[in-house]
Amino acid sequence: MAAARQEYPTAEAFMPVKITLPQLREAAAGCKGCDLYKIGTQTVFGEGPRDARVMFVGEQPGDQEDLAGKPFVGPSGAMLDSILEKVGIDRSEVYVTNAVKHFKWEPRGKRRIHSKPSARQVAACKPWLKAEVEVIRPDVIVALGATAAQSMLGPSFKVTRQRGKALRKTTWGPCVIATVHPSSLLRAPDEAARHEAIAAFERDLRAVKKEMDSLKGAGKRAPQAARRIAEHPGASARDAAAKAQPGLFGEPSAIPTRRRGRRSRH
Ligand code: SF4
Repeated sequence: MAAARQEYPTAEAFMPVKITLPQLREAAAGCKGCDLYKIGTQTVFGEGPRDARVMFVGEQPGDQEDLAGKPFVGPSGAMLDSILEKVGIDRSEVYVTNAVKHFKWEPRGKRRIHSKPSARQVAACKPWLKAEVEVIRPDVIVALGATAAQSMLGPSFKVTRQRGKALRKTTWGPCVIATVHPSSLLRAPDEAARHEAIAAFERDLRAVKKEMDSLKGAGKRAPQAARRIAEHPGASARDAAAKAQPGLFGEPSAIPTRRRGRRSRH
């Protein structure tokens, strides 16, 4: 008889009552919401200022991030930093995190090779991302790669088709933009392809900068308004937006309503 698959409670079971970055970080360190806690060295929680205006969401920590316990400190992070600087996004306004907080890998010889997290693992970890968004309330959230984009915008979202487009009044906040993960730039097969990939990524980050310049602090005020639209199906703005960007409002509210009453933010 086949062994029964072990069930995990998702990150929701480890969520602290008080939703602040230090409390979230501490609680996430002990998360056993899915099986990945068994193979990752540690939980790699997001980093950046509490008042960040833009949040970058990657897929999961890589080998170096897993060892350091910090997101985007490896080659992808260096690539991201260099292009942020080029397009004029101040690193002090940036919060970086991942859709999945533990490194999923497979052994290959002595190396640990990245392995894509399953839909179940991504869903299990989503409460941490939602809580980070609730605390930071950025003007713009940038989903880096398909895993992050689909975690936020639904499984039918295609980064290849919609990269660089500003999606407004989403359940996550006033503006979400998806683009590729910076690690894909490092994997380009030759110099010409790499040059082209970097130029396209740069264009997408210029679109992010443009949204940041026009929203100017709207994230601190607007997410609740955006969530209200999402929580009341039938609102004309929601219908129009959903028609224009199918799947955008397929996600539940960024923070489940039932929990909101007993949480506090700072
Ligand atoms: S990947 Fe996320 S849900 Fe799974 S154990 Fe780690 S922190 Fe918890």
